[in-house]
Amino acid sequence: MYDPKSLKAEDFINHEEILETLEYAEANKNNLELIDSIIKKAEDRKGLSHRDASVLLACEDEERVNKMYALAEQFKKDFYGNRIVLFAPLYLSNYCVNGCVYCPYHMKNKHICRKKLTQEEVKKEVIALQDMGHKRLAIEAGEDPVNNPIEYILDCINTIYSIKHKNGAIRRVNVNIAATTVENYRKLKEAGIGTYILFQETYHKESYEKLHPTGPKHNYAYHTEAMDRAMEGGIDDVGLGVLFGLELYKYEFAGLLMHAEHLEAVHGVGPHTISVPRIKRADDIDPSAFDNGIDDETFAKICALIRIAVPYTGMIISTRESKKVREKVIHLGVSQISGASRTSVGGYAEPESEEDNSAQFDVSDNRTLDEVVHWLMEMKYIPSFCTACYREGRTGDRFMALCKSKQIQNCCHPNALLTLKEYLNDYASPDTKRIGEELIKRELDNIPNPKARETCEKRLALIDEGTRDLYF
Ligand code: SAM
Repeated sequence: MYDPKSLKAEDFINHEEILETLEYAEANKNNLELIDSIIKKAEDRKGLSHRDASVLLACEDEERVNKMYALAEQFKKDFYGNRIVLFAPLYLSNYCVNGCVYCPYHMKNKHICRKKLTQEEVKKEVIALQDMGHKRLAIEAGEDPVNNPIEYILDCINTIYSIKHKNGAIRRVNVNIAATTVENYRKLKEAGIGTYILFQETYHKESYEKLHPTGPKHNYAYHTEAMDRAMEGGIDDVGLGVLFGLELYKYEFAGLLMHAEHLEAVHGVGPHTISVPRIKRADDIDPSAFDNGIDDETFAKICALIRIAVPYTGMIISTRESKKVREKVIHLGVSQISGASRTSVGGYAEPESEEDNSAQFDVSDNRTLDEVVHWLMEMKYIPSFCTACYREGRTGDRFMALCKSKQIQNCCHPNALLTLKEYLNDYASPDTKRIGEELIKRELDNIPNPKARETCEKRLALIDEGTRDLYF
């Protein structure tokens, strides 16, 4: 029985409910009256149900689809301004006991180079990341209770936070590790993590079991119920995602929104972020072996509809996507992107050779962080390295309250400018610094509250004098 409030995976991600939703969406995809009424409902900015959003996804009427894109752009501007938060993934270990058929870290892969960073190596990676200008990381690891126990992950988090190299610091560590116990989530919370990220991969149980034939990840319910355990363990920012290409995208889209509805119904707060990865070529993985790949247009439509359906949830695009695709979807509601990523274990301090490749997948955007920052500013976006919210305790429902109170422009906007200023002074190339300074000058006028604007100006001057880590 479909029940968003249930704690049982098969109730809140209910297969029959998804099938009925898809049938309803298909039956109504040309029902322009209904579609117009859903678009009208979306304009209230309170989000859309999985059913309504699925009808919009099925609709192919050009005029309506353009309206959806325009609405997504508007929401992006109203809720997130022109800020884009930057982060980098840090791979700690690719030892893994699972059998995920799309991932080269699967246990049967005997030729990929297995690596696990020592604390000394973590330090080198973090220094390399700090020297680029990164302040926010997402740590990644395979699932292996012997090689990567929770104590190892906790040690790495402590090491990462402890390193202060020149003016550098990692101020927020998000964690993307396999589903685990409430007790372990509590330990992660105590270690000071930001968001706990776990991709569902696919919401389709039967496919899920086939795609994860062996290892602890085979257990669909344990994986799907992980966010509830994370929240029980005190983590209030969780990040959802599906790996597009594994199953029919319409099924995944409905499942993703049902998961968000479930978190809201049970915990009173929806997901902090949603990621939209697509399968990429990797060591022994050929993406064309998967039948459900989506083209760039469909991908853009999914991004736009996520923005409309869950306006307060951040959306993340990684370097799996090319510059061209990122350019297209950034306008449609993306709030965070990674930059200068390495998907190998230890790839930042020393680039890997062909022979000792430990990478999880090929990246499509190989630009440096400086190039990414420059590119964002050319498109009139503010690259932000802000990590203030979670350090000020503005997580979970408190973050949502900030979004809803429209104070973002007096808080996140100046914080973006202050962290950009740090980046420009410490790491930017002369050209990036030049256009960055101009952008900051212009964007100061967009802080509505005069007091906040004045404080921001004073703090920018303090950064020039050498002070760091100032935030609202
Ligand atoms: N092992 C953890 C887990 O099971 O969730 C950590 C996550 S893994 C390092 C990060 C994510 O990369 C996976 O959740 C998966 O969605 C994605 N991934 C795996 N293989 C991929 C591929 N070939 N192309 C693109 N993304 C991939």
